[in-house]
Amino acid sequence: RRRERAARAHGPGRTADGHPVKLLVNLGALGELPAAATTDSEGVGLFRTEFLFLDRAEAPTEEEQTAAYREVFTAFAGRRVVVRTLDAGADKPLPFATAADEQNPALGVRGLRTAARDPHLLETQLAAIAGAAEGSGAEVWVMAPMVSVPREAAEFAERVRAHGLPVAGSMVEVPAAALRAGALADVCDFLSVGTNDLAQYTFAADRTLGSLADLLDPWQPALLELVRAAAREGGRRGRPVGVCGEAAADPALALVLTGLGVTSLSTAPGRLADVRAALAAHTRRDCRRLADLALAAPDAAAARDAVRRALG
Ligand code: PEP
Ligand code: MG
Repeated sequence: RRRERAARAHGPGRTADGHPVKLLVNLGALGELPAAATTDSEGVGLFRTEFLFLDRAEAPTEEEQTAAYREVFTAFAGRRVVVRTLDAGADKPLPFATAADEQNPALGVRGLRTAARDPHLLETQLAAIAGAAEGSGAEVWVMAPMVSVPREAAEFAERVRAHGLPVAGSMVEVPAAALRAGALADVCDFLSVGTNDLAQYTFAADRTLGSLADLLDPWQPALLELVRAAAREGGRRGRPVGVCGEAAADPALALVLTGLGVTSLSTAPGRLADVRAALAAHTRRDCRRLADLALAAPDAAAARDAVRRALG
């Protein structure tokens, strides 16, 4: 039994009855790499690449990008790395990629939308990712931020594959993408729910405003309903559906997300152990019951309370 417990502490994430839930880490700077790589995660679920582009007048060259991506891929040789292409705009403005005259930048040309305006940025980044992936030993997946409609996901997947990168996915950060997750899953290989932006767009509440924290609470039943839609529709097509927003880092909420059908959870490295322990202590049936309780609640506080009470 002791060996079994040890395996649960270090192996892939599993519920008490053995249902696998991939546990991955979020990575947003090379400085975080040593801590991220030494965790017992199955890889990186969200590699935010904005750090290479922020605070500079021009985009980094392909060579510079290749070198940075290669550091990450070699540190994760034998594991998966989900690279997110540049998410410029809104809370991540860049002088060379975002327009200064937008009145509502969160609703403007941001994320994948910048690639339509400046195709060269995405092409260079994909070339750098492909160059760095080659021979690195990592299983490199690529995903797009801020996808709203299936056509965007299809065009992105086509461009990714044209670079010889075999796995292309779409983030689910916009309610329209969650509601039509099946159509997205039809044209790409996996989905990853970004609960930070999905909450912002579901509640029409600026994610950078602390005064709106109640609306942005990841326990909001409406948000969970959209996660369920994405997990269900992606699952029906046999596609992995992960969560990489901050919601995945709360152990009780991680159980709820698992109950909703999510197949992987990506968190800050320091949060992984608690999420792993919570999963190991509950069956998939427990998770489904907790998800039902949260969905039935009238608001976020009630959802959290109901689940906490059930957990004892
Ligand atoms: C999200 O929106 O939930 C997400 C994971 O991406 P970011 O926080 O970088 O916008
Ligand atoms: Mg986001």
